Amino acid sequence: MADRPVAIRVRGLRRTFGSVVAVDDVDLDVFDGEFLTLLGPSGSGKTTVLRIIAGFERPDAGTVELAGVDVTNAPPYARDVNTVFQDYALFPHMSVLKNVEYGLRVKRVPASERRARAEEALAAVRLTGYEDRAPSQLSGGQRQRVALARALVNRPKVLLLDEPLGALDLKLREEMQVELKALQREVGITFVFVTHDQDEALTMSDRIAVFNAGRIAQLGTPTDIYEHPTSEFVAGFVGTSNLLRGAVAQAVIGKAGTYSVRPEKIRVLAAGTGAKSGERAASGVVREVIYVGMTTRFVVDIDAGSTLMAVQQNAATASGEVAALRGQPVDLVWRTEHEYSLD
Ligand code: ADP
Ligand code: MG
Repeated sequence: MADRPVAIRVRGLRRTFGSVVAVDDVDLDVFDGEFLTLLGPSGSGKTTVLRIIAGFERPDAGTVELAGVDVTNAPPYARDVNTVFQDYALFPHMSVLKNVEYGLRVKRVPASERRARAEEALAAVRLTGYEDRAPSQLSGGQRQRVALARALVNRPKVLLLDEPLGALDLKLREEMQVELKALQREVGITFVFVTHDQDEALTMSDRIAVFNAGRIAQLGTPTDIYEHPTSEFVAGFVGTSNLLRGAVAQAVIGKAGTYSVRPEKIRVLAAGTGAKSGERAASGVVREVIYVGMTTRFVVDIDAGSTLMAVQQNAATASGEVAALRGQPVDLVWRTEHEYSLD
């Protein structure tokens, strides 16, 4: 990816509000046509970075370049960027078509071109045929799509999206995640997407920047971030993380330090199975068996003195069988390549 054109280049970005350091020395390159997600807990600086890229906020230090041009001091309207917010407030008294056309009307684009571009944007979000509806006659998901069309109609080089699916219920949100990713691929616009939801980030992104306290803790593909977190923070924030540290690491792995193993990499086997070559085993007692439909979660107190979670697909097992494991001794077994050092 090194020779791909850079759509957004951020260097040394810093923004404080009184004594709060909202953004603390952030460097970031977003490539042309990329879907990049800023993922992090509430208050970690994601929105502030997005607002600085859009031009709604000025940094105390650092620069923002769009397609190689320094726009740090340019006003929002002089940037080839559009933003979609979570509360996307459509104009309630205007039809869907009028809502989508609005930005072009302000720019005095002629009526016929306006209409054609609005139709094109509505087609992209699969709302052809809804032109004359009022926003109140749409579902939440459809309203969010109108908000997207309203941004797409301007044909920006870059679309910034701040938790745009946050107000939708889970099922609809999951549908929209898949649709939005497909739409982005189709239109080829660079997306910078903000969320605090790890599954959402893993589902949609080409790359993820994980934020912690105003800084980027790790930047990488979903696989990098999930399979090879470089810190305890990232391991814990993105997915459930089992930690083996100190004396426990020494006993189980035979080395000092802090290690993590993802729950789905751990198999729950009969006590005494032990480790084959290339594997690690830890004996323990099942404390909890939690049936969650597609999978079962096992909470196991290991004899070395820690608690690990293991997750298994319910492909071949009967729920009665696994429930009977509660209170029983077991061996937890994983491949050594699935334990990673967090030091
Ligand atoms: P996120 O989007 O990750 O939740 P924000 O960028 O909104 O985080 O906020 C980062 C930090 O900056 C938070 O501590 C927040 O309270 C603070 N902050 C953001 N905007 C303002 C503002 N306009 N005035 C004061 N503090 C702010
Ligand atoms: Mg925010």
